[in-house]
Amino acid sequence: MDLGIKGKRALVCAASKGLGRGCAEALAEAGVNLVINARTEGPLIETAKDLSDKYGVTVEAVAADITTEEGRNRVLKVAGEVDILVNNAGGPPPGMWTDWDRDDFISAIDANMLSPIALIKALVPGMMDRGWGRVVNITSQSVKAPIAVLGLSNSARAGLTGYVAGTSRQVAGAGVTINNLLPGIHATDRAVSLDSGVSAAQGISMEDAKKQRCATIPAGRYGTAEEFGATCAFLCSTKAGFIIGQNILLDGGGVNATL
Ligand code: NAP
Repeated sequence: MDLGIKGKRALVCAASKGLGRGCAEALAEAGVNLVINARTEGPLIETAKDLSDKYGVTVEAVAADITTEEGRNRVLKVAGEVDILVNNAGGPPPGMWTDWDRDDFISAIDANMLSPIALIKALVPGMMDRGWGRVVNITSQSVKAPIAVLGLSNSARAGLTGYVAGTSRQVAGAGVTINNLLPGIHATDRAVSLDSGVSAAQGISMEDAKKQRCATIPAGRYGTAEEFGATCAFLCSTKAGFIIGQNILLDGGGVNATL
């Protein structure tokens, strides 16, 4: 399928690895020129080179912490006018509800709610002026089905979800769509770190920790960054202009719910 976005320009945040990289790669495959970001320069430059060599698109890389105002300003300066924005950043740490104080909540809300909102506010007005735009926010299945140890993530991402629900309907008439992608477990560094935690806590091998988690997923496996990226690219395509303010779960059936 021709996604109709060849030659467009996208900013993909937190994209040197994992799900962000999957989104960047699927957009590059569709002919989209990219600005990508992550904090660590080495792997970011490597990803930029890989994608431009493989797909013949331009890929500019900005090493910056997207959850800080200073980092966002540097990224926005290079990004300029973009047609597509993919919001992403690392998730907050796990813990117990009794451990988190005001500062922990402020950090989580800053990173996973207010940073994507700041980028939406910076870039969507230009998209509206030009009559076309796409925003995809990477959130989590924890928006639909809470993960108790990730209370900071559950809270901050729920806040972003509420903001998107209203805002997406305010900008849709100008040709701009905003939607959220909700990953369940995917085979990225994050999954390795979650499995290491289970392996250490239960005294089992990494392989058994993974098997145990796979048993809770009807698809019987972890998702891939390629599958995730393909869904993102479709949401960013000209074919997806009627999808507004949705929360699309990619979880192999892990959330046991009818709707
Ligand atoms: P990952 O494999 O660990 O990759 C994270 C990417 O984001 C890396 O490129 C990292 O590079 C970059 N990054 C992290 N923090 C950043 C920051 N503050 N500023 C700029 N770049 C940053 O993680 P992932 O699995 O792709 O997860 C992406 C998001 O989806 C996270 O919010 C995660 O919580 C959420 N999620 C993931 C899963 C899953 O199973 N994988 C499930 C549910 C939700 P640097 O470290 O160099 O900055």
